[in-house]
Amino acid sequence: MADEVGAKRPIDMTKEELFALGRTSTGPQIARIYKEIREDVEAKLAASADKIRENLTHKIGKVGKKTPAMEVFLQGAFGRNREHHKKAGTCVGCLQSASEFEDEMSEREYKITPLCQKCQDSPDWATEAPND
Ligand SMILES: [Zn+2]
Repeated sequence: MADEVGAKRPIDMTKEELFALGRTSTGPQIARIYKEIREDVEAKLAASADKIRENLTHKIGKVGKKTPAMEVFLQGAFGRNREHHKKAGTCVGCLQSASEFEDEMSEREYKITPLCQKCQDSPDWATEAPND
């Protein structure tokens, strides 16, 4: 880990630096560098996918009332995420535990969205920029 001076990660290197590194590296070192680059790229891709998902959730939340078409879209786009939260009993909005509901209607809403009572009543994301 600390065997390289400066400890610049391969993914942050310029093309020239990578070529220089490749010339002075042995087979096992190159394999390790390749693995490191692949892991970094995968981490960056996962992070940007999370960000896109977050932004979409944020924008969709602002719309407020969902149309059936929007619901179908949400099921497709966030199906796995929703299932995860439903299984864990947590809220897809605020990520907190969602176990108490005011009424059966809210509980049923949780099974669809899944949003906790607080987020169903006044989602944080909806208070930011009201359109109507
Ligand atoms: Zn919530």
